[in-house]
Amino acid sequence: MPDEPPSVSRRRFLRGAALGSGAVLLGAAPTSLMAAAPSALRFPVSDHCDGRRFFNPRRHINRDWTEVMRWKLTSSPAPWPDRIPITPAAPPPAPSGPEIAATWIGHSTYLLRSPVGNVLTDPVYSERASPVGFAGPKRVHEPGVRYADLPPLDLVVVTHDHYDHCDVATLERLAHDHPRAVAVTPLNNGPILAAAGWAPERIVELDWWESRTLPGGIVVQVTPARHWSNRATGARNGRLWGGFNLRLGDRSVQVVGDTGYDEVMFREIRQRCGAPDLALVPIGAYEPRWFMSEMHCNPAEAVQIHLDLGARLSAAKHWGTFQLTDESRDAPPAALAAALGAAKLSADSFRIPQPGESLRA
Ligand SMILES: [Zn+2]
Ligand SMILES: [Zn+2]
Repeated sequence: MPDEPPSVSRRRFLRGAALGSGAVLLGAAPTSLMAAAPSALRFPVSDHCDGRRFFNPRRHINRDWTEVMRWKLTSSPAPWPDRIPITPAAPPPAPSGPEIAATWIGHSTYLLRSPVGNVLTDPVYSERASPVGFAGPKRVHEPGVRYADLPPLDLVVVTHDHYDHCDVATLERLAHDHPRAVAVTPLNNGPILAAAGWAPERIVELDWWESRTLPGGIVVQVTPARHWSNRATGARNGRLWGGFNLRLGDRSVQVVGDTGYDEVMFREIRQRCGAPDLALVPIGAYEPRWFMSEMHCNPAEAVQIHLDLGARLSAAKHWGTFQLTDESRDAPPAALAAALGAAKLSADSFRIPQPGESLRA
């Protein structure tokens, strides 16, 4: 069985509590919050699974506890503002033509409106990206679209189990309020959704490259990412991580999951899925590089991912909402602008929407 003994999880939580936000990013929660419904975990042997755990092809990430300590003891995070005032926007209307509209709600949460349905990515509406309400990274701006204003959803995608992407409180509300929606996630994240109230027939777990066509016509395929997984319960790397290729009528969207740069991975996604009309690419949570580079790309690498994918347009995510790592809030947009300049790309090819701002592709 992949589950670690409970004592290990408890120890990990206590260590996490001692270390603050960084440890929350690295996964620590009281076991009571994570009572997952029983489900058959699947570990199909592949280039990223040994039959017991998932791993990254080519270079697997193997950060241990002493390195978390070293990060926390040797670096000091840049100060972030406590609050950025924003005015939440109404979601854009459903497109009348083949175009899609992508609205940045915050962190990795995007609303995609398309002629074949509405999609929400890595939905996080909670105040904190944390297993507990009283500690952990706190949002610095309101969600760009109010929860109550979300249009009826057809698909919710969850890239991996980290708390800044997989927010049980939000998933519980969505399960109830959006009965038409199906949740799609990489292998073995299903029990978290089940525990959040999603009926088994509304949960689809896929391995890398597997795809599913939903009743309304959305095609969703899970794609690789260079990352890892961990929460308080369940084994480290016992739940698969990834991204998604979405076919939304005439348009395709590549939802890039949390990922370090990989010279092969994004070129292969382009080869197998085609160049996307829109890519949602993480640009934040990358300092210090000695610790983060294997798991989170920096803005220059995000530009390389944009190029490797051949995206017609990219849009930034995974920055500016929760402070997870050491860089300042302003650093990712500034570094992205510099990287686009160095690559002789226009700022219009890789946009940084503000919370609530919509792009069309
Ligand atoms: Zn992550
Ligand atoms: Zn993340």
